[in-house]
Amino acid sequence: MRYVSTRGDAPVLEFGDVLLRGLAADGGLYVPDDYPHLPELAPDASYAHVATALLAPYTAPSLLRDELAPMVEEAYATFRHPDVCPVTPLDDDLHLLELFWGPTIAFKDVALQLVGRLFDHELTRREERATIVVATSGDTGSAAIEACRGRHHLQIVVLHPAGRVSDVQRRQMTTVDEPNVHNVAVEGTFDDCQDAVKAMFADPTFRTEIGLSAMNSINWARVMAQTVYYTTAARTVGRGEPVGFSVPTGNFGNVLAGWVARRTGTPISQLVVASNRNDILTRWLADGVMERHGVVPTHSPSMDIEISSNAERLIYELYERNPALVVDRLQEFAATGRVELGDARRSVVGEVFDGASVDDEGTLAEIRRTYEATGVILDPHTAVGVSAARARRRDRDVPMVCLATAHPAKFPDAVEAAIGIRPELPAHLADLFDLPERFETLPNDLDRLKAHVRSVTSR
Ligand SMILES: *Cc1c(COP(=O)(O)O)cnc(C)c1O
Repeated sequence: MRYVSTRGDAPVLEFGDVLLRGLAADGGLYVPDDYPHLPELAPDASYAHVATALLAPYTAPSLLRDELAPMVEEAYATFRHPDVCPVTPLDDDLHLLELFWGPTIAFKDVALQLVGRLFDHELTRREERATIVVATSGDTGSAAIEACRGRHHLQIVVLHPAGRVSDVQRRQMTTVDEPNVHNVAVEGTFDDCQDAVKAMFADPTFRTEIGLSAMNSINWARVMAQTVYYTTAARTVGRGEPVGFSVPTGNFGNVLAGWVARRTGTPISQLVVASNRNDILTRWLADGVMERHGVVPTHSPSMDIEISSNAERLIYELYERNPALVVDRLQEFAATGRVELGDARRSVVGEVFDGASVDDEGTLAEIRRTYEATGVILDPHTAVGVSAARARRRDRDVPMVCLATAHPAKFPDAVEAAIGIRPELPAHLADLFDLPERFETLPNDLDRLKAHVRSVTSR
């Protein structure tokens, strides 16, 4: 498999380079030059077995199936459910795909538990070391830390905005006691943290000096790993017949993985893009116009995003893989904050995608409604997806799978506001509030932050 950039002006690479590089040199995103077809799978194949079969075509020739298989086994052995990503019924032939059985109880573990191992393997093979620097508003930081902890070829530095992440989220990061894990509370906002990381990447001397690398959601390896549960869930629920999916969406990585699963032959009839009030994608799907309105905070903070980077991969396909047209559209959007898709492309998108936006009130109402009807407690992100599924489902005879992207205990305030119950953390996190925290607090000053990253990575 070879990978090309959506902007057409970066070297064609194999998997190992795409993994470590993340973003392409021309600012584009790497995509496979062709999509493989779904392999034959035994009816009783385990999650890890399906994952290896599906992912091996993407990792060859950098990484062969025999090397990939043990990493996949190990990654999914960290999940606390034998099915890894189990499916449970709700009401009305809706189903929940539970993606929160990994170490940090949110769906980013599904990709990152594997990606951490892939990084370590590739770096060991090259006899190199890397420093991962991550900016987080909550979930990504802890999932990346769990992916990297104790791996000898990796150091990880996570910047979070001081006082602006929830106690559970902060403690999931700062109570990890490993010499290669470094947390920084930046006296600023999430955007300040992200700008600092971007500035570090933009400094070639610094980048080389510390071996700077990223595991962010534009990394192809993350998208690839997320395609697997669409296939396993469709097999469980649809048994060969088409199913729909509803996906709580922020950066578009998760729902794009659904599109890839469909492209490779998984029978998916509908993909509902579920947004909170930050609805740039749902407006784009409804009227073909992508236009910025600014970000507002909601009960589902991991979806409070305006620029959904992974949408570029879908745009590339809509423009028949013509990078010149992609670059044109992106420049127009950057210059004017607005871009139109055109009727022909809108109808292509509309074949499978629908969008729905759910506000905070609707989110709490859905947590209540589902709890009263089924006894199941949804987290606010999942509730956005379930509500959107009820609103946008095209065919009552086709089952619909709603992606449950976080455990309700990760967002106890919203759940309590909805149903008066404070969900308890699972047993493996029960001592989270007793463990000591380790982090530095630093001013929002790029030179100070760089000096800190340099000092911890040279230890
Ligand atoms: C990251 C995240 C999302 C959004 O996923 P994208 O791939 O960015 O669209 C939704 N829910 C939760 C709980 C998340 O952590």
